[in-house]
Amino acid sequence: MAGQCIAVLWATENTLFHSYVAVVTTVALAILLCARRMSLAVKHNRPLWALLLASLAAKGVAFTLLLIDSTHHSEGTLVMVDPSFWFCVAGWFLIAAASFDAATPTVRWASLGDILTSILSVGLFYVLLRAAIEGPMAADSAVFLTRLFDALDGFVAAIVLLRFLGTRRADERRFFGVVAAFTVTDAIAAAVHNRLVVATDSYLPELLLTLPMVVVGMLLSRRKAIWLRGFRPSLLQRRLSRMVRPFALSLATCFVALATAHVDKTLAIRALVAALTLFAGRNALVVWYHLSAEDQMRVLRRRLQHAAVHDPLTGLLNRRGLFHILQREYDAARHPAGFSIAMIDVDHFKRFNDEYGHQAGDRCLVHVARSLTQIADAVPSCVVSRYGGEEFVLLFPGVTLESALLHVERARIEVALAPPSPLPPDTRITFSAGLVTVEGGRWPPIDELLRQADSAVYAAKAEGRDRSVGAALVTA
Ligand code: GH3
Ligand code: MG
Ligand code: MG
Repeated sequence: MAGQCIAVLWATENTLFHSYVAVVTTVALAILLCARRMSLAVKHNRPLWALLLASLAAKGVAFTLLLIDSTHHSEGTLVMVDPSFWFCVAGWFLIAAASFDAATPTVRWASLGDILTSILSVGLFYVLLRAAIEGPMAADSAVFLTRLFDALDGFVAAIVLLRFLGTRRADERRFFGVVAAFTVTDAIAAAVHNRLVVATDSYLPELLLTLPMVVVGMLLSRRKAIWLRGFRPSLLQRRLSRMVRPFALSLATCFVALATAHVDKTLAIRALVAALTLFAGRNALVVWYHLSAEDQMRVLRRRLQHAAVHDPLTGLLNRRGLFHILQREYDAARHPAGFSIAMIDVDHFKRFNDEYGHQAGDRCLVHVARSLTQIADAVPSCVVSRYGGEEFVLLFPGVTLESALLHVERARIEVALAPPSPLPPDTRITFSAGLVTVEGGRWPPIDELLRQADSAVYAAKAEGRDRSVGAALVTA
């Protein structure tokens, strides 16, 4: 920039040429710094840095063409060589970087749709630009050209800023922070430059051309992005950014397509159809992604709900599941005749584990659970659960104490008769059961009910195990 200052202040015949030499040198330096940053970046972020590098290179080509142009026409012209194409390409690379999102395969395809839309929009913009350049070079067409470049630079800056404001990942935020600073400076500098060039004979506005390169060069040479550390987009910001970007891109493409109508009507209609098709296509993909994500969530939620109330070893309801059902029974009070509850505890299970190992212990628990399930299947509304460890609880809604005792006794005999393989056939698995029946209108609290059943189990253990003890709890 210092070199350019000297060239500009030393106003000679070749001032524009010297100024462009300085600009091209600054761009080359920015390219070198960007290449270095790209080599330091994490692997999945390199394509983004490569897009910035490509954009800077396109700008470099544009300024080199202007430099060549200035050797033929000391005042410069856009007609002899075509730097505008390379300015458009430079802008497109940055729109592509802001549009690309590799979060999930579907979102990736949707963002590829956005990139196609951006090619369309920049292509149409170039058609518009050439029409303005090749038309009669009147004063108002110079103003129109300035406004066109303002629109392109402003749009690039806006889309990059939107992406920056909606990016949460630190490495990506750093990239879009650098590009946002670059594009905003570039848009402002170019707008001011283009206006001053028309208004004054001075070469001073040329200094503005290097300013964005100096900004990007300084940011690229920083080791750490301290100025970004405090910024974290909110969920709403991220959602808005994702939603607005493709919409803004499609809307801009439709506008440019409509603007090209006075150059080529057929092209404008085709471009409009293509822009709308691309927008509809990318949105259909996003809807597909959300619908499949919703389905996955539903399956996961169901699995989670099942796991929360079931025991993974026996597949029975766990304690939480039992409490849900008990509460439901209490709330509905469906059995005015009362209900029975049986608490079952495998005898000397610790010894069993010590003798045969924990895996055999697990098989034993599954064996007991299977016998209890057979009872539950035979009695309407009967529920069986693993209360914890080697303890099970059976709930017999609307069943009297005598009937419940009969069912539990049958299970006790069945469990003892056939030990699970590969245990020796003479192994006896026994359990003690405590039963409580609630009779009468007002039921005791659930905790009290379970405490009473537990006491009955203790009584059965005290009486010598391998038996059932029942008690009727008569309430008012
Ligand atoms: P009691 O006849 O008085 O009930 O004696 P017990 O040995 O059955 O009772 P205790 O409470 O002393 O021991 C229960 C044992 O159950 C201890 C624990 O290692 C075992 N256990 C608890 N859950 C599991 C399990 O999921 N698998 C296996 N294999 N063992 C378990
Ligand atoms: Mg126990
Ligand atoms: Mg036990």
